[in-house]
Amino acid sequence: MKLNTHAMRYLTNEDFRVLTAVEMGSKNHEVVPTPLITQIAGLRGGAGVARMISTLAKTNLIAKVPNAKYDGYRLTYGGYDYLAMKAFSKKGAIYSTGNQIGVGKESDVYVVASETGEQRILKLHRLGRISFRTIKQNRDYMQNRKSASWMYMSRLSAEKEYTFMKILYENNFPVPKPIEQNRHCIVMELIDAFPLRGIEVVEDPEKLYSDLMALIVRLGRAGLIHGDYNEFNILVYPSGQPILIDFPQMLSIDHQNAEEYFDRDVDCIITFFERKFGYVGGERPDFEKDVREKRSGDLDVQVAASGFTKKKWRELDAYRAEFLSDSDSEDDSEEDSEEESDEEESGSEQEEEGSAQESEEEEDENKEKSAEQDSDFEDDL
Ligand code: ADP
Ligand code: MG
Repeated sequence: MKLNTHAMRYLTNEDFRVLTAVEMGSKNHEVVPTPLITQIAGLRGGAGVARMISTLAKTNLIAKVPNAKYDGYRLTYGGYDYLAMKAFSKKGAIYSTGNQIGVGKESDVYVVASETGEQRILKLHRLGRISFRTIKQNRDYMQNRKSASWMYMSRLSAEKEYTFMKILYENNFPVPKPIEQNRHCIVMELIDAFPLRGIEVVEDPEKLYSDLMALIVRLGRAGLIHGDYNEFNILVYPSGQPILIDFPQMLSIDHQNAEEYFDRDVDCIITFFERKFGYVGGERPDFEKDVREKRSGDLDVQVAASGFTKKKWRELDAYRAEFLSDSDSEDDSEEDSEEESDEEESGSEQEEEGSAQESEEEEDENKEKSAEQDSDFEDDL
């Protein structure tokens, strides 16, 4: 799913109002009825609104849902991207977008620039690239369908990453500086360094190895395990200084499988150093002795206090455990989300209401944000 900023050049404020209305309507409706879109947008109906809806649908920001029992639309990935981009633009976090530098199963990463030309990184979280079949196999979990929607889960993932990055940054861990988060996207400092994966020669492998193990241990003593501590998620400056990225899967050292995850992170480094640099014999940190017994912080508790609640953490964990451990669901995302929404459509109103209530707080906040976004869009974006 490519980030498409093209439409931003010609969409009017009224088009944008209609798009925002579809987003707001989708909090409680899988398929947002056309009259409701008009009503939320606060525009008079008739040909005007119909034309705006048609423009948005042609640009793939919203999509007409086939087989719906009534005439309606849903927001697409592209529409959700657009809303986040517009919010970033308004805040001055992003002025123009550049090249895509990363395509993961769960994210797209772009280089972008601020108004002053400062290069930054935009990461769009893309959860929900799961197939209809997978959902069927997970009926129990899917009972709370609303919570499992791609929009909600992608936003949770971005919120988690941003909250963790912020707390790590504030505690002087070597991570990019977080700049903004909106919906499923975050903007952060661009680290002008290569992933460890692509580095052929390091001056002092022993030193880098022990720095990386020291970092795992320091994180652990502060209460956290990275959970995906590998050569793709560690950037290394020419000076040899490592910077850690990619936090949606982080976990607490009090997690029931903490030791297993900790050991897996340690093993990734050991294996990589042996294979790539022929380096063996470095010290291996022990979870009990080096981390748990020497715990000195509670960043895992602090993240909950700073907005990423335990409930959200659990919800995201449950989703990740169900859907993301299985690595063969590479199906096309648009098709998936269509299938997914067909599936979700059959969920009872009650289920949807229940979960809508649970995330009431965020939704209020989102409405506020949406209501703010009325200004003209930067031409360059
Ligand atoms: P994913 O979940 O898709 O693995 P990552 O956060 O690991 O997402 O980012 C994917 C790739 O994008 C990284 O391997 C790295 O090359 C690049 N990248 C991500 N964040 C930054 C950053 N702040 N500075 C420079 N490059 C980055
Ligand atoms: Mg990564």
